[in-house]
Amino acid sequence: MRGTATRQAIIIGAGIGGLTAGLALAGRGWDVHVLERTRALRPVGYALIMAPNAQRALDTIPGGIVEQIHALATLQGEGGIRTARGGWLSRNDAALAEARYGHPAVVLRRADLVEMLAANLPPGSLRVGTTVTRVDEEAGRVTLDGGEMLRADLLVAADGIRSAARETLFPGHPGPVFAGLTAWQALVPSDGIDYQVGTTWSRGGEFGMLPMKDGRLYVFAEAAVDQPMPRRSGAEEKAELMRRFGGLRPPIPEVIERIDEEAVLRADIHSMQVPLPAFHRGRAAILGDAAHAMAPNLGQGACQAIEDAVTLAYVLDKSSSIPEGLAGYTAARMPRATLIVRRSEQVARFATMRNPAGQVLRNGMLRAMGLLGSSAALRQADFVMHWDHPAVTAPLHR
Ligand SMILES: Cc1cc2nc3c(=O)[nH]c(=O)nc-3n(C[C@H](O)[C@H](O)[C@H](O)COP(=O)(O)OP(=O)(O)OC[C@H]3O[C@@H](n4cnc5c(N)ncnc54)[C@H](O)[C@@H]3O)c2cc1C
Repeated sequence: MRGTATRQAIIIGAGIGGLTAGLALAGRGWDVHVLERTRALRPVGYALIMAPNAQRALDTIPGGIVEQIHALATLQGEGGIRTARGGWLSRNDAALAEARYGHPAVVLRRADLVEMLAANLPPGSLRVGTTVTRVDEEAGRVTLDGGEMLRADLLVAADGIRSAARETLFPGHPGPVFAGLTAWQALVPSDGIDYQVGTTWSRGGEFGMLPMKDGRLYVFAEAAVDQPMPRRSGAEEKAELMRRFGGLRPPIPEVIERIDEEAVLRADIHSMQVPLPAFHRGRAAILGDAAHAMAPNLGQGACQAIEDAVTLAYVLDKSSSIPEGLAGYTAARMPRATLIVRRSEQVARFATMRNPAGQVLRNGMLRAMGLLGSSAALRQADFVMHWDHPAVTAPLHR
């Protein structure tokens, strides 16, 4: 919609999805207003892996965002998936992956990422301590706590997994449901630990370690559980980690021992098993976890939010009206995001398998794939990583 007067967009939520939407829309000339209910940007969780597809999406935003990410991040590097005793099931070849997908996978602190994205927004466009209490998608209007009303040409619901905006836009939709998984995160000092990057698949769970820029290890673990786990103290969570993973290969027991019980996080995993009917309604688009919460096993939740955000800005730019642009956004994003939600859940089941016979079969399959060489193993990730932004004029070699 080039050549028209400056359009206004209200974005609900300043998580990774909302902030990226703010940057992408501002980069295409929109006047953006990002509304965040918390008083300070405080992302839940310690770190995340940013895959090449998300970095290629961010490449389309002016301002060198990817270079800023690389300055904050470590390379995911060589690693892979191991058995409980330490044998390789599958190995990453970081150089091959970078050559194939245009960027390396990187690991960074969520807080650093969110702070950097916010710092790149146009001055004055982020309003913290501001909760949206009502969304009128037909009028393009939101009501804030305190009663103030704001109007815009476009609303973007980026309010996360428990999105209240989703309930307004798609009443009756069940939303994300418990995925039979629970996940822990922690940061531990790595000095003196002879660790190997990657994840270990054990019976009914996985345990992973990735080095961070500040020298600490980002530790993550996941387990298959029959029902949501009750809230417990940090000491109990640490004991649970030791019970489930303390028998795995060294240095995993020592790493668990080093976890600060005051700072171990655990969350039951919910995913959008029934897709939304669309990713837009009226003047509103929905993105990120609000639209397609998923299991973390492909490391794609935030990456897909980023793809959503840049695609939304692009299709609106190329369309002759907001309704046309929003329909284009749903068409561009729903099939891919829905597929990745499903695949994430399948990989979660595969990684946290409890049946010993199934594990033997699974491990054999993974080892056989490994024998075909790194390129063949890497190609399994193509459906996720090999994503081209619609504006990319020089697509990746396929
Ligand atoms: C254990 C675990 C590991 C993960 N690892 C990875 C990984 O390695 N790589 C990856 O890509 N993804 C990963 N993810 C997924 C990723 O964390 C999420 O997909 C991503 O953070 C979603 O971002 P979002 O912006 O959609 O939502 P959120 O980050 O939830 O942001 C929503 C924001 O909206 C605000 N908000 C809510 N309601 C309102 C309101 N009414 N008014 C104003 N503001 C509001 C909230 O305060 C919040 O700031 C992982 C997830 C888990 C659980």
